[in-house]
Amino acid sequence: MARNIGPSCRLCRREGVKLFLKGSRCMTEKCAITKRTYAPGQHGQIRKKESNYGTQLREKQKVKRIYGVLERQFKHYFKIAERSKGVTGLMLLQLLERRLDNVIFRMNFANSRSEARLIVQHGFVYINGKRVDIPSYTVKLGEEVSIRAKEPMLKRLAETSEALKDRAIAKWLEMDAKNFKCKVAAMPTKENVGFPIREQLIVELYSK
Ligand code: SF4
Repeated sequence: MARNIGPSCRLCRREGVKLFLKGSRCMTEKCAITKRTYAPGQHGQIRKKESNYGTQLREKQKVKRIYGVLERQFKHYFKIAERSKGVTGLMLLQLLERRLDNVIFRMNFANSRSEARLIVQHGFVYINGKRVDIPSYTVKLGEEVSIRAKEPMLKRLAETSEALKDRAIAKWLEMDAKNFKCKVAAMPTKENVGFPIREQLIVELYSK
């Protein structure tokens, strides 16, 4: 499964915002963007006036990077969103939020989406009692997402959950943290994303 394997901090520096790709490290002074506020590369420190297209492109890249999705898959999500009933931008965000790796991240059992992706890929995650090891699986309303593992892993998950207890759990998930499971109780809203995203710019970009 294709994914971006380059340095994560470089992506934040390119977008000029913290994308929180490295879990707890992002909250420390080791965060690269607090040390170097300019874009990476030879021309990173040159300030350029951004065109409309540039602004739209950066917004799309930012969202892709937050959810760890590559271009082809992102475009695929956009096509589904476009065909769905409802506002395309919101539909797109809902599809991204409902990715299984994002759900595990939102359940606070992983520090980052890449860690959540590993939990899924290693076969610890079940949907309505059936094992699903595809991080891009889209959870549906009413489905139960649970993690089943042996003791050392469960202990680790419980520790992560405890360490992240100050991070709000997505309101669209009905959590049962003690039993390592949740139910998809509603569709995610834009507020649930918890990150300022101008999805309209992405719609404009792809509608050209
Ligand atoms: Fe981004 Fe986190 Fe790296 Fe900071 S530490 S630059 S927020 S990935």
